Amino acid sequence: MADPVTRFNSIVKKLKENDQRLTPQRLAIVKILAHSKGHPSVEKIYQLLHDDFPTMSLATVYKTVLLVKNIGELLELGFSDGSNRYDGNKPYPHPHVMCIKCKNIIDLGMTGLEDIKEKVAAKTGFEIMTHRLDFFGVCRECLNKL
Ligand code: ZN
Ligand code: MN
Repeated sequence: MADPVTRFNSIVKKLKENDQRLTPQRLAIVKILAHSKGHPSVEKIYQLLHDDFPTMSLATVYKTVLLVKNIGELLELGFSDGSNRYDGNKPYPHPHVMCIKCKNIIDLGMTGLEDIKEKVAAKTGFEIMTHRLDFFGVCRECLNKL
């Protein structure tokens, strides 16, 4: 994973370049996105910050997440049940492993997958814009609880 402090600084710099206000709430949200521990949802970020910012609404979190996504600093992982999860630590496509019980999502962190895009392009003649590769299973912690 990328250094969360470096990622935080890059996102803040990009927000400044886009003339976006840097409120304490926004900075707190960016800090969580820069780390992206477990690939949080908007609701999770809201819960994490509720004690520090009791008046902040879920809509504020949602809007800030959308803003960071729109400046290209956030990877959004959508799922068929409607839950979106986010990775601001690595804002480009990369493979994930998701636990179907606790819904934790981790980066696969496996090498040798980078050239798949080129292979797919060569095989199909497509110009590949993006890709998605997810694995689903039960994590070690959840297996131990069975
Ligand atoms: Zn689990
Ligand atoms: Mn990730």
